[in-house]
Amino acid sequence: MKLLENRIRQDGRILGTEILKVDSFLNHQIDPELMAAIGKEFARLFADKKIDKIVTVESSGIAPAVFTGLSLHVPVVFARKNKSLTLPDDVWMADVYSFTKEVTNHIMIDHRFLAAGEHILLIDDFLANGQAIEGLLSITQQAEAEVVGVGIVIEKTFQKGRQLLDELGVEVKSLARIKSFDDGKISFLS
Ligand code: 5GP
Repeated sequence: MKLLENRIRQDGRILGTEILKVDSFLNHQIDPELMAAIGKEFARLFADKKIDKIVTVESSGIAPAVFTGLSLHVPVVFARKNKSLTLPDDVWMADVYSFTKEVTNHIMIDHRFLAAGEHILLIDDFLANGQAIEGLLSITQQAEAEVVGVGIVIEKTFQKGRQLLDELGVEVKSLARIKSFDDGKISFLS
């Protein structure tokens, strides 16, 4: 998605060797017009799928997920993160290690918001090592819902996430695919 790639080139900042900061339009301040374009693009890319609901994880997945839900006219559920050891009943739960924050969170979705047989599109802001999406896959599996695809705003192809999801047989579509941060320059896969 050229609009997104241009925005990443313009505003993205590289931290260390593996992290991209895009807090001026996605992770802190949010550009609603760009999010609306992202939502439309995911709706177009997954137009051939039956989708009952979108599932993401808080907090940075929410903006792109909501705009995709708006374009597809389906509800959006976000998994909540919880560090506490006491867990509420009636939730589906998975552990997710965050390599950017170096912590493990429980992520959870209330049983009321995910049902057996529902067709689910997973959306997230970044794909790095695939832990967040793997956690959401575990939760949907526990609920006996069916994941019909995964939409990623920014994929870093030099990390392990894509391979992991390919091996799990999940269809992944990313709007911007970053090949490298070599020499402080962001290069995209065409
Ligand atoms: P994964 O679970 O695939 O290893 O990482 C994806 C999650 O970590 C995303 O939900 C995102 O919040 C965060 N993340 C991973 N890489 C980056 C990055 O380069 N920049 C930002 N801002 N977040 C990232």
